[in-house]
Amino acid sequence: MQANLTLDSPLAAVKGAERFRKALADLKLETVRDLLFWTPFRVDEYGGLQAGSKAIVEGVLVSLSSRFARNRAGFRVTEGVLQDEHGNLIRLVWFKDRWVFTKHKQGDHLRVGGEVSGRPGSWELKHPKIENRTEILPLEPVYHLAGNLRSQDLRALVTQVIGLADRLEDVVPPKVRSRQGLLPIAEAVRTAHLPATAREFERALATLQFGAVFELQVGSALLKRQQAKESATPVPYRQEVIDAFKAGLGFELTNAQRRATWQIFQDLRRPHPMNRLLDGDVGSGKTAVAAAAVAMTHAEGLQSMLMAPTEILARQHLHKLRAYLEDSFPGLTVELLVSGLSAAERRRVKTAAASGHCGCLVGTHALIEDDVQLAALGLAVVDEQHRFGSRQREVLRGKAGQGRPHFLAMTATPIPRTLALAVAGEVDLSVIDELPSGRTPVATRVIRPEERDQAYDLVRREVAAGRQAFVICPLVEESEKLQAKAATVEFERLRSEVFPDLRLALVHGKLKEKDEVMRGFRARESDILVATSVIEVGVDVPNATVMLVEGADRFGLAQLHQFRGRVGRGSDRSHCLLLADDPVPAALERLELMEMVHDGFRLAEADLQQRGAGELLGTRQHGGTDAAMAALTNPKLLDVVRQEAEALLDEDPELAGNPGLRRRVERRLESTSLT
Ligand code: ADP
Ligand code: MG
Repeated sequence: MQANLTLDSPLAAVKGAERFRKALADLKLETVRDLLFWTPFRVDEYGGLQAGSKAIVEGVLVSLSSRFARNRAGFRVTEGVLQDEHGNLIRLVWFKDRWVFTKHKQGDHLRVGGEVSGRPGSWELKHPKIENRTEILPLEPVYHLAGNLRSQDLRALVTQVIGLADRLEDVVPPKVRSRQGLLPIAEAVRTAHLPATAREFERALATLQFGAVFELQVGSALLKRQQAKESATPVPYRQEVIDAFKAGLGFELTNAQRRATWQIFQDLRRPHPMNRLLDGDVGSGKTAVAAAAVAMTHAEGLQSMLMAPTEILARQHLHKLRAYLEDSFPGLTVELLVSGLSAAERRRVKTAAASGHCGCLVGTHALIEDDVQLAALGLAVVDEQHRFGSRQREVLRGKAGQGRPHFLAMTATPIPRTLALAVAGEVDLSVIDELPSGRTPVATRVIRPEERDQAYDLVRREVAAGRQAFVICPLVEESEKLQAKAATVEFERLRSEVFPDLRLALVHGKLKEKDEVMRGFRARESDILVATSVIEVGVDVPNATVMLVEGADRFGLAQLHQFRGRVGRGSDRSHCLLLADDPVPAALERLELMEMVHDGFRLAEADLQQRGAGELLGTRQHGGTDAAMAALTNPKLLDVVRQEAEALLDEDPELAGNPGLRRRVERRLESTSLT
């Protein structure tokens, strides 16, 4: 081991890591500590030939052939027969894997590993790995990998730093460890990388998973306890308010909206601040629910504020709130405060807010950073602001006079309940899992590379009919700058080669005039908006009927569903076209789910199972380990961890006896949570 390394050394300091710089960065591994925690998520134990288990077989390839399966066009099956040293003939089968053919031929000596089926005399290995002698170990750790980084490379890097595992600090107190049968962290990390038996590995992994979420759960339990001690002005329930609200709405609330509204009213009546997340698909009508809360708060003589991530969204909220509230509550003035207003207008609105005349202030993030004073803030609603952290909440508290305002966050990212509980257990969740009736689902199609022209034709047809289209550019992982560049290139290509006769506009994260471009598109000044994922958050363009997503296989299902939600706003049929240039079969299957499933929560659940929690919470946070991601999808484990976290806080409310844990939890609370 290199003598100068510590747990916090950057990976660049580890010998041999330079070659994998990009792969390691993709995995969000930065320090030696990150690398140590990047343990295998599974070990494959290979034994002899036995149905249902994994086996390594060595022998001569006596035949190799390829044919098309009959049931499905383009589905290629490659078959081989391997004869082992005892003369056993073993059938090898691969689906869609042409590379087998290009790399191997009859007569080759192979060592293959895979799952065994069949019976003595007619054994079969489906989709076996073919590797050389050094690569398939009897107990093979399986890592999540990226780029040019292979398992054996990762093992080589880990071997150099594994000695440092002894310096890792335990966050789980010894008492909890012994109750749960967990290992000390150093031992768990060492064992996970170099297990002697599958059983040993499981125990190490269980320790890592427990540890990864323990900190999280202690954090939210702590927050929840703090919240319970804080005070807020109660907003009593008034039947006449909800009656007037419903009368002025112009539509019936859905059952899901009604349930969410009721849950919010229950929270508002308490003398402690509400901390609730309203989670509902795009178009599910979250604004109306928020408006009901605003009306109730107003009836108690308190003000509300609604924050949106962009000026455009703030304006949309303004219009909706006014439409929902103005007629029924003439005394409730809703005002907009954004930087685009004239100085005089801003002064006027600020004065109205400070005097209490303005009952609901709508704006962007600037609302809380600016010198905005409110006479009596009772309710703060925050729309689509995943990065609303504890510091901003402190600022809000300052505006609430006594105690804290009630707090309602809204998101259109469907978050499965177990996950919400796990990552933000201090937040109460209301789900709107129902769309207002009369919506036509967006016709969704996965487009093969050779059908690209059909997709463009459809865009053309819709534009000819007076409609508009979005084109989302592929995700570029490296940086926003590269993403912007890629979008610009695609924009130029579409403008000059594909749609020279149409009006195209471009929007990306690096663009200063984002809001201008969006406004122009809404005003139908362009036909096609080429965009990066910045337009993901709720911009309403009812006239847009096509959402074309390039490189769709690189996005999570939940995110694709968000894109799809940008269309289908009007009454006409809308289309979502998912293009993937060279998808692996699994990715294609995932995409095909989009064709059939229109419920965001189900798609999110599928993402969670297939790609892990990182997908749903945005790109994986730095240091977010595989173990943490796995634990987040395990409700049973989460339950146990939550109980232990509560027990620990009962015993040691300030974590005085666990300073290391306390430091880490504080650091985590400093950053962000779901709301
Ligand atoms: P989101 O949850 O995406 O923020 P909005 O609040 O913007 O959804 O609502 C989307 C559209 O649906 C708006 O035009 C709104 O007026 C309308 N809407 C909301 N609730 C209902 C309902 N219960 N019935 C009919 N239309 C509704
Ligand atoms: Mg909305």
